[in-house]
Amino acid sequence: MSSGAPRGQGQVIRLPRGASLSDFADKINANPGSLVQEMFNLGEMVTATQSVSDDTLLLLGEHLGFEVSIVSPEDEDRELLAQFNIDLDAEVASERLVSRPPVVTVMGHVDHGKTKLLDAIRKANVVEGEAGGITQHIGAYQVHVPHEGVDRALTVIDTPGHEAFTAMRARGAQVTDIVVLVVAADDGVMPQTIEALNHAKAADVPIVVAVNKIDKPEANPDKVRQQLTEYGLVAEEYGGDTMFVNVAAKPGIGIEELLEAVLLTADASLELTAPIDGPAQGVAIEAHLDKGRGAVATVLVQKGTLRAGDSIVAGGAHGRVRAMLDENGKPVTEAGPARPVMVLGLTAVPGAGDTFLAAEDDRTVRQIAEQRQARRRAASFANSHRRPSLETIMEQLKEGEKTSLNLVLKGDGSGSVEALEDALFKLDIPAEVQLRIIHRGVGAITESDVMLASASSEAVTIIGFNVRASNKVREIADREGVEIRYYTVIYQAIEEIDAALKGLLKPEFEEVELGSAEIRDVFRSSKIGNIAGCIVRSGVIRRNAKARLLRDGTVVADNVSISSLKRFKDDATEVREGFECGLTLSNFNNVQVGDIIETFEMREKPRA
Ligand code: GDP
Repeated sequence: MSSGAPRGQGQVIRLPRGASLSDFADKINANPGSLVQEMFNLGEMVTATQSVSDDTLLLLGEHLGFEVSIVSPEDEDRELLAQFNIDLDAEVASERLVSRPPVVTVMGHVDHGKTKLLDAIRKANVVEGEAGGITQHIGAYQVHVPHEGVDRALTVIDTPGHEAFTAMRARGAQVTDIVVLVVAADDGVMPQTIEALNHAKAADVPIVVAVNKIDKPEANPDKVRQQLTEYGLVAEEYGGDTMFVNVAAKPGIGIEELLEAVLLTADASLELTAPIDGPAQGVAIEAHLDKGRGAVATVLVQKGTLRAGDSIVAGGAHGRVRAMLDENGKPVTEAGPARPVMVLGLTAVPGAGDTFLAAEDDRTVRQIAEQRQARRRAASFANSHRRPSLETIMEQLKEGEKTSLNLVLKGDGSGSVEALEDALFKLDIPAEVQLRIIHRGVGAITESDVMLASASSEAVTIIGFNVRASNKVREIADREGVEIRYYTVIYQAIEEIDAALKGLLKPEFEEVELGSAEIRDVFRSSKIGNIAGCIVRSGVIRRNAKARLLRDGTVVADNVSISSLKRFKDDATEVREGFECGLTLSNFNNVQVGDIIETFEMREKPRA
């Protein structure tokens, strides 16, 4: 049984997430082949160079008597940056610190008025300045408020408050100094109120409560105060230290008071300073692919100053800041701490919540980005290519039923992809079905997404949320038998996937006629066989379309397709009604004058 792998005595070995058995073997001076054998004995078939899951690494470690410590992406990133002499936690000499605006996130139960409140704050930009107020949604904005005779700035994270956006919200609290907890006075404390409260507490962020909708006759703001005492938020007027402010976001009542309360709370409980010199560091709040402008990311600077022309890396994306715009679409030349700006010039779309930093030169940021990408690929490969163990295969065979739904998620922005993923994992999934997201990303569905899906041992569906595949990519998907589904509304995607999980619904297709043509002449060619000279009788004839051939009303050939199509001497992709064309059929040569060719395509039937 012994396969010659060394046995440890509890020594700790450090492995990065997504390591392979070869990497493991290196650390313990073993032959990779012997580890493959050990894994086989444990019931899992993996190759030496394939990147494996955390579980596999831990299992093998335990089996061989080593304590495996898997290095988290954060630790690994620190190590990576250290190679470039970058230390994110470095202390900065205090004389270079400046005070900075607090960063505020609005949270609360759905329909309690988060969006309205964000709108109201935007409009109530109290210092008369921008006529018409803030004009663009870039993910965050800054407002100015007179406070004790001084003009004070406040940065507000402007993410929509949909239930599916929990992931963003959870991250929102990490860049956030203060949470404004919105509670509708006519509804009181609700489940997501508590959830938001817990996020804020976990992140150790002070809370200001906005008791909203006090304009409603049934509003009971005191009840909200009383309810929240149970959760440790005691209003100042009850002897506690949390500020509660009555507001009505819709008519815009109490907004100034709320912003005052935010500043008072910030001043009382926070040391809001940040270094203003040095290369910028911060967080990407929102990012998407813009048709004209390429990758666009809104970043919140947390330390240092970001300038146009800086080389930056955000997550796995890098580039040089081509331009920076503020929430009014105006160019900004530099952005200091707590300033949100929209950055143009990245080569790819970072994820929401990814950290960014400016570095000395293009080369450094490119290398950091490339190493991060390589690591992410390894990690997602490890999770996507988890081969079933022998034991589970056997179980599957016994049950004959076990199945999984494998997805690739692509969307127009990192926020929406995360929201979708997050909502999917909250679905109530039947035990016999497994949901696996093998890849996620921002942007159009690409050839590499399709190849990833088709390389998988199980069927994979690609979900396009507000993004599409080009015709070329669609053709490859057809050829590889990879299903692509498009959605524009999150809940619809979730509903269908939920239905698919419950029943693993097979898509239903129906035939849709594209057009028909009559054969008027037949030309014989020694090279390509018989060419049918046709006139298109209805619709269009498309190259590669599925077709059948009718002779005197009966189907003579089924399951053929239009393999070539010409208008005169030129190749055509489609020929319309009333025009003549020459065509050949795949797998069928016996065409005759008078035959009718019908073409059609299979379209997925919308479900009721
Ligand atoms: P969100 O889901 O928390 O973002 O809530 P919304 O901002 O979309 O508001 C939900 C509903 O409450 C909308 O119909 C708003 O018009 C309404 N609403 C929000 N604030 C107020 C308010 O102060 N007074 C009244 N009467 N209605 C409000």
